Amino acid sequence: MNIGVLAVQGAFREHKLAFEDLGSKVIEIRLPEELDNIDALVIPGGESSTMAKLMKNYGLDIAINEFKASERAIWGTCAGAIAIASEINDFPEQPRLSLMDMTVDRNSYGRQIASFEVDLEIESFEEGFHAIFIRAPRILKIGDRVKVLATYKNDPVMVLENKILATVFHPELTQDRRIHKYFIEKLVKNS
Ligand code: GLN
Repeated sequence: MNIGVLAVQGAFREHKLAFEDLGSKVIEIRLPEELDNIDALVIPGGESSTMAKLMKNYGLDIAINEFKASERAIWGTCAGAIAIASEINDFPEQPRLSLMDMTVDRNSYGRQIASFEVDLEIESFEEGFHAIFIRAPRILKIGDRVKVLATYKNDPVMVLENKILATVFHPELTQDRRIHKYFIEKLVKNS
């Protein structure tokens, strides 16, 4: 099983290490044809507008939509969650992949509390998950088919629609590999 990590920009190395810890083979994705060799794709945190620009330049925006159509799993973290959203409330013109029916706001947690850490309860996890939020987007609205797996102060922060997963925090920045494992076991192997 090969996990692809989009490596045009952002915190892709940390995801790579996390999946390698779990024994997966990880392929860094920079070109559309590289998507042919992977079973699932992770879009990391970083800067979503830069990432969007680079994806468009390389033709990855179209290729990733085709990848979704082939029923393979995709996981976006933080900027990656913005990239897969269908609407960006505060930057409506920003290009996005529209892989998941949700509206996000890039800056609504504000400068004062731009970064914070909390212990989250995640559905089906027996123990709390220490979550790191770094200039995280807020999920303002989700479609009927989107399932909420974790919330922070009533906002969804981990959501799932079919095989598309989004977390607005950064599981790759801790040593807790449970969400990476969940992604492999529930969304990649179950295909
Ligand atoms: N706020 C950033 C953005 O809009 C995302 C931050 C992150 O990925 N840690 O792209």
